[in-house]
Amino acid sequence: MNLPKLAIAALGGTVSMQARHAGEGVIPTVNGETLLASVPELKELARVTVETLGLFPSASLDFELLLSVLSWARYQVEQGAIGVVITQGTDTLEETATFFDYLWDHDEPLVLTGAMRSAAQAGADGPANLLDACRVALAENSRQRGVLVVMNGQIHQASVVRKTDSLALQAFSSPVAGPTGMLLEGTVRYLRQSSHRKLLPLPQQTTQTIAMLEASLSADTLMLENILELGYDGLVIAGFGAGHVSERWADAVEAIAKEIPVIIATRTGSGPTAQSSYGFIGSEMDLIRKGAAMAGFLCPRKARILLWLLVGCQRLDELTRYLNDDIRFQN
Ligand code: GLU
Repeated sequence: MNLPKLAIAALGGTVSMQARHAGEGVIPTVNGETLLASVPELKELARVTVETLGLFPSASLDFELLLSVLSWARYQVEQGAIGVVITQGTDTLEETATFFDYLWDHDEPLVLTGAMRSAAQAGADGPANLLDACRVALAENSRQRGVLVVMNGQIHQASVVRKTDSLALQAFSSPVAGPTGMLLEGTVRYLRQSSHRKLLPLPQQTTQTIAMLEASLSADTLMLENILELGYDGLVIAGFGAGHVSERWADAVEAIAKEIPVIIATRTGSGPTAQSSYGFIGSEMDLIRKGAAMAGFLCPRKARILLWLLVGCQRLDELTRYLNDDIRFQN
C-alpha cells in the first residue's frame, strides 16, 4: 500500500511526561518513538518518521530552538512529507504556533498538539490528540491553512488560539473567532475556508529583546522607566480594556515610543483593541498620538512574537500593516 509520508517531532511537554518514582512530579522523558507506539492506528494511515528534537517543559523553549525545529519541518516537507506534526507542552503552544505561522511558507499543514494529562493519568488525552493531529496533517482539506493547533477534538488557527484554562481538558479556545474546524468520527471538518496569511522571512538577527508588561491598577512606572536603559528593542503592553493605560504610564509610553516600537494590546483575553473611541489620557487615541501601535485582535503574547520577528527581519516599517491585518475575517 502506498501510504502518504508524515513527519512527527516530539519537543516535550505533558504529553511526554511521566514520574520517575511514585510521588514525584512528572517530567518530560517520553521520546517520540514511545509516543508513536501509543497510536498504533497510525500505521494504517501513513508512513511515519518520528524524531525527538528535545524533551523540554514548554516554558523553556526559545526562539532559536524554534527556528531549528522550523528548518527540520521544512526539510521533512522537501523530503516528501505531506504534513508535519509537532508535540510540545501546552503552556506556550499559542506562542510557538504563532511563531511558526508567520514563517511557515508551505502548503502542507504544520500541526501542533500536546496533552493536558500525562501518559500515566487516567483518561490521558495525549494519544487521542496525537492521532487527531496526524489526521489533520494528512487531510487534503488542511492544505494552505498554515499552522494549526489540534486539541480535544478541535482545530484552531494559530493566529487566534489561546490557552484559556490552566488544567482543564478543554484548555484551548479561539476567542471571538471560535475553532476553525473539528474532528468528527475521525474525519477532518472545517467550519471556514482558509484565509490569507501574511508571512515573514526568516529573521536574520535573533538577539533582539522585546519586553512585555501588563497594566494593573495603581501600578508604578519603575520598570517602564527603565525599559530603554535596559536595552530592549521593543515593548508590548497588555493594557486595560480596549488598550488603555494610566496617565503615568501614558507619559512613560510617549518617551519610550520615541526610541523603540511600542504595541498596546488588551489584557482582557478576548476582543480587539480600539482605535478611535476614547480620548482620555492613556486611552487608545492618546497612545496612538504618542507613537504607540494598537495590537488589534493579537493578544499581548502574539504581538510580542510579531514584534520580535519584525525586528529580526528588519521589517518594522510594516508593523501597522501586520497588526491591522491579523484577524482573519471571512467576508
Ligand atoms: N500543562 C503543560 C503541558 O501541557 C505543562 C508543561 C508544559 O507546557 O511543558 O505540557
